[in-house]
Order: sequence, then C-alpha cells, then structure tokens
Amino acid sequence: MKVACVGGGPAALYFSILLKRHASSHDITVYERNPAGATYGWGVTYWPDMLDKLHEHDPESAATIRENSVRWHDGVALVGDQTTVHHGDEGFAIGRHRLLAILAERATSLGVDIRYGQEITDRDQLPGNDLVVAADGAGSRLRESAAQHFGTHTVSGRNHYVWLGTTKVFTSFTFAFVETAHGWIWCYAYGFSDERSTCVVECSPATYSGLGLHEMSQDDALRQLEKIFGALLDGHPLIGRGDVTGPAPWVTFRTLTNQTWSHGDLVLMGDAAHTTHYSIGAGTTLAMQDAMTLARVLHEAPGTAGLERALAQYETERKSALLSVQSAARHSAQWYENLTRYIGLAPPRMFALLGQRHSPLLPYVPPQLYYRIDQAANQLTVLRGLKQWLGPRLARTVQRRSRP
Ligand SMILES: Cc1cc2nc3c(=O)[nH]c(=O)nc-3n(C[C@H](O)[C@H](O)[C@H](O)COP(=O)(O)OP(=O)(O)OC[C@H]3O[C@@H](n4cnc5c(N)ncnc54)[C@H](O)[C@@H]3O)c2cc1C
Repeated sequence: MKVACVGGGPAALYFSILLKRHASSHDITVYERNPAGATYGWGVTYWPDMLDKLHEHDPESAATIRENSVRWHDGVALVGDQTTVHHGDEGFAIGRHRLLAILAERATSLGVDIRYGQEITDRDQLPGNDLVVAADGAGSRLRESAAQHFGTHTVSGRNHYVWLGTTKVFTSFTFAFVETAHGWIWCYAYGFSDERSTCVVECSPATYSGLGLHEMSQDDALRQLEKIFGALLDGHPLIGRGDVTGPAPWVTFRTLTNQTWSHGDLVLMGDAAHTTHYSIGAGTTLAMQDAMTLARVLHEAPGTAGLERALAQYETERKSALLSVQSAARHSAQWYENLTRYIGLAPPRMFALLGQRHSPLLPYVPPQLYYRIDQAANQLTVLRGLKQWLGPRLARTVQRRSRP
C-alpha cells in the first residue's frame, strides 16, 4: 500500500513503524510541518500496562522508550503547608521531544520516509495514495476540511491551564494547591529526565483574571507563578515556550469527538480523532493505541479491497475502547472545576478523593460520605461489590492507567 501520514506526532510515527513491521513493502511517507526536533510540550506520562503493549508491538522501540523514561513510585499532594504522601502510585514519564526522536529514528530505520517542514492542509495535496492518515493533532486541518462529514463536536473546559517545564526534578508525581487572594491555583509536576520536570498549572477563570494572568507577558506570568509555587519549586525557575514573546499561552482544554472517523481513504487518528483531558495523562497512550489497532486491521484485511472494512473495524474497536477513558477524563476535568467541593477536606481525605476523581458517582455523593463508603468498601467484600456496581470500579480501572 502507498500510505501518507500527516503529522509527525506519536500517532503517525508509531503507526508507520507498525505498518512497516507488518510488511516492509508498504510505501509510507510522514509529512510534518515543523522542522525535525521542534515540537510542543514537555514530558508525558504513561503506565506499566502501556509498556507491556509497546513491547508486544515493537520490542525494539519499547526498550529504547523504557531506557529514556523515568519512573516514579509515589504520589505527593501539598495543600497549603500540609503534605500527604501516597506510596505505590507507579508510573513513567518521557520527554515528548525524546519520544518523537526515538520513534522517528526507528521509523526511518524501517524505511519510512519522514519529510519535515511540509504542511499539508488538504487531501488533494497527496494524490496517488491508497490511504491518507490524518494524525495532525487536535486542530487537524484535514479533518476540518470535511468537518461536517466527520461530525466533529468540541466542548471547552472552564478552567485555564498552561503547560510548563522546570529545572526542579520531581521524583514523585506531585500536586500542589495554593490559595491566593483570588481563589485556588494548583499544578501537577513530574520529572521526565534527570534535568527537567513537567509542570501543568491550572486555575478557575476568576483566579485567572483576579491574578491578572490574562494580561501578563509569558515572562511576567512565569515570575508570578514561581512566587506562588515557591515552596514547591525550591528556587528553581519555571520555563515557558521558547517561541512565545507575548502573553503566556494559557488555554482552556477542548474535548473533541467525531461521529465518523473516515471519509473514503482519509482516516483520523490520535488527537485528530479524539482528545481526553490532560489531567488523566492518557492522550499519547491513546494515540499510540489507535496506531496499534489501525496497523493490525489493515494487516488483517490487506490491500485496497479490504480498506473500507478495515477502517470500519478500526473505528468500532477504538470508539468502544475509548468510552471508559473519555468518561474518566470528563469527570477528572470536572473534579478540578469543582475544586472548592473537596479542597476543605482534611488533606488525606482530599488526596484520597483526588485519586477517585474519575468516578461518575463522586459528583452526586457528599464528599465525606463518599470517602467513608470508599474506605469501608476497601475492607468489606459486600460493600466492595456494591461500590463496583455503583461505578467507581471504572474509576479504579482507569486510575490504574492514568495519573495517581
Ligand atoms: C498540558 C498537556 C499535558 C499532556 N500530558 C500528557 C501526558 O502526560 N501523557 C499523555 O499520554 N498525553 C498527554 N497529553 C496529550 C498528548 O500530548 C496528545 O494526546 C498526543 O500528543 C496526541 O498525539 P498525536 O500524534 O495524535 O498528535 P500530536 O502529538 O499533536 O502531533 C500532531 C503533529 O502534527 C503536526 N501537524 C499539525 N498540522 C499539520 C499539518 N497541517 N501538516 C503537517 N503536520 C501537521 C504537528 O506539528 C504535530 O507534530 C497532554 C496534553 C496536554 C495539552
């Protein structure tokens, strides 16, 4: 097959690797608008079960990804001046730049042609391909050119966030909640190399405008946040985006879904097809899982004759697999939007409910009561069954796969 992938993110690069592994005769080109080595973001998290999947699909890249990742074993929450530690929350993180470099190198070694600095905005720019994969991220131009066909639906979150880096190396997954004169502001931070950590800062619209963050340059905002999170950062600087000279790139998160994922020989993958709130740290994993499924179904129904069936199968499988994660992401985002409901609890209780934020039941049960049911359910078999029936089983399942 002759295949064009638009976007050089984890979805397209991993897909090209897997398709080549199925048949080296596939002719695959990846078009990335940025130069090699230029990308957004800092470190991304993933969980042990994802590492197992990567090993199953391509042991070589999995081993390199593991070697270049850091692992944490604990979760820590700072609320005001109180610290709560939760042992046993395990996960991995890797720099996004590093991950893309590993995948690009592996893809190239298998014969994939990666063309950097090439922006594709229309399917007609890529004639003569049997399949065009739109893996061009949440703002996909290829998807937007047929938005009505795809039935794209977006919902914007209420809170503002900014994705930052720092030179402080966190060895645990760390949450910090700070009360200001204009309400709470919080961040979650985790190391992704021996020099850098990711630090995602979030607050409500009232706190955002009350602190004047909406009218500050990136530099001023960073200095302000360094003061607010001084106890967390130990004098280390926060680092913004190198390409920003004006205001800091605060945004609200857009949760995106599509009714249909393909249009003839054009198929959506990764963030172009679906986004899940960053607070569950799953977007990269999901993008790479899309790649695993698409590569497999194309292999099982080979050639252009099997294409329609393969794309339908891919969409069905992935939509079904995403349901629980999308629900968890929605509830997690809402937990932070309703922070005042939980932040006044004793810190260990608040941290316990932070870990339960994916639960569809939690918004409807008084937090103290939920906490007591949760504790009791962990001790009594009967109650554990009831609790699972009520819903938090989903939360636990997803929790194992998402942030602590
Ligand atoms: C604050 C934040 C924190 C996150 N943390 C995590 C985390 O901890 N763990 C996790 O798993 N996920 C995390 N994510 C989500 C993750 O970054 C995305 O889900 C993931 O990158 C999606 O991969 P993708 O390949 O689909 O798209 P992308 O990674 O967005 O790649 C798309 C690529 O397409 C290129 N492109 C776009 N348009 C064009 C065009 N017209 N022509 C050519 N190229 C184009 C872009 O330059 C880009 O390289 C986070 C996201 C945010 C916002």
